[in-house]
Amino acid sequence: MAKPTVILRDCPRYDAELIRGIARDGLDTLELRPSGRVLLKPNVVISGPLFPNAFTRPEFVEGVLRGLRDRGEGISELAVGERCGITMPTRYAFKEAGYYEMAERVGDTRLYCFEEEQQVEIPMYHAGRLRDSLYTPRPVAAADFFVNCPKFKAHPWTTVTFSLKAYIGIQDDRHRLIDHDHLLNSKIADLQYIVQPKFIAIDAITAGEGRMLTPLPFDLGLMAMGNNQVAFDSVCCHIVGLDPLSVEHIRLAHERGFGPVSLSEIDVVGDLSLADAQRRASGFKTGLIRVEDYFKGTNISAYGGPPPSTEHDYCWGGCPGALEEAIEILRVVDLQTDAKMPKTHIVFGKHEGSIDAGPGERVVFIGDCAEYHGQIGGQLVQIPNIYRDRSTLHPLEAKDQDIFAKMLKTNVEMISKRNEQVLRLEGCPVSVAEQVLTLVSLGKLDNPYFKPDLAVPFTLAYLSSKTRLLLKRLSGQPYNVPGPTQRGASRPAQNAPPPGASAPLEHPSK
Ligand code: SF4
Repeated sequence: MAKPTVILRDCPRYDAELIRGIARDGLDTLELRPSGRVLLKPNVVISGPLFPNAFTRPEFVEGVLRGLRDRGEGISELAVGERCGITMPTRYAFKEAGYYEMAERVGDTRLYCFEEEQQVEIPMYHAGRLRDSLYTPRPVAAADFFVNCPKFKAHPWTTVTFSLKAYIGIQDDRHRLIDHDHLLNSKIADLQYIVQPKFIAIDAITAGEGRMLTPLPFDLGLMAMGNNQVAFDSVCCHIVGLDPLSVEHIRLAHERGFGPVSLSEIDVVGDLSLADAQRRASGFKTGLIRVEDYFKGTNISAYGGPPPSTEHDYCWGGCPGALEEAIEILRVVDLQTDAKMPKTHIVFGKHEGSIDAGPGERVVFIGDCAEYHGQIGGQLVQIPNIYRDRSTLHPLEAKDQDIFAKMLKTNVEMISKRNEQVLRLEGCPVSVAEQVLTLVSLGKLDNPYFKPDLAVPFTLAYLSSKTRLLLKRLSGQPYNVPGPTQRGASRPAQNAPPPGASAPLEHPSK
């Protein structure tokens, strides 16, 4: 069997025609001919002028779409689909990213906002799975030729976000936030069973350094392509000097048979050598900084206690990383954010040390697993652990994550407790959006959701998205489409064999 291939190409600028030619060459090298329903998933976790380095640029997607069409044979649908982050409507993220104009230019290209589509249950059979099934939007489940088009970035929860990690966007928030905690890497590995891309093309022309939502620009001037996610991510790790096995979701996917991590088992080809790519990436900063260290030297004292786990002493996939992303959003909105924040103590997990809060300094316990018994400001404070074991959570019971409902809830909470020194925010995880709103309230900062130039398009996109969902419901279309596990079908005792290098899994909804 041929080795998985990763193609490294010099690509110095966001020129859709240049990218089109490179994508066409890549498809040719990999002997791929797109056909049927072709779905391209970019990374548009967030977009707009405040977040220029966070998303797959539209010129890049345009070039890849044109390249796919050039090489296509019997394409019945050419589409782009994504679920953006922090509870925003994807329509808004697409608009701010310039995707609607891009789709117009390409012509005959559909855009799917995944949260507006039916969610299809995909059963899981492999050993070590977190759940017996996962939900994914119908366009993903129905794709014949799935293309992953991530952005080359660092990540505060998972070190990096290349191809495998970008799969968090193939779930809507209500499903995505389940297990988005200390087991996030396992969740990402489980998502791989839903579908495997036939073609991967990463936007590494300007990479995103240090963070996920507000990364710093890092010019790499390259475009990488491949046909196997694990091999692809491993080469990306080598480019930035990381051992791929040190990134937990890559290791898990490798151990489950999704692909090799050793360079001896991967064909690395193209007009740019791996050594040249490594030279370009020299000094690239990845993520994974503990919250205590992240906030050193600021008015926030953070305490990262362990989550409820015997294997993890820190919740890398949940609340602490969300606080890091939240403060960075506020910093790009207002350069005075740190100066405006009053002295505040923020506690995650089980904290057994002291909390040295002076008079008037607020103490915020974030997350269901926060736990503390001790003195604060001369008073005995008891914060019980109210974490619900994940086995008690069911995707069908997961609630809609509405941004305005979150704003209302957070504001009511903060106003009703404005005179209390100690606060607790419930949730698992407490999302980036909720933590942004909490910091806004604590520091009396500008609410980024209400920035005048953002508020109108944001609200219009929100209303448009909700209206479409409502119309679908009124037409009798259920949001979740249960598969065989919810209908009570018997299951195999063990996992199906690991998928091949780039073969999408069949599933009952197709
Ligand atoms: S409540 Fe937050 S910190 Fe605790 S396990 Fe859940 S996501 Fe992690």
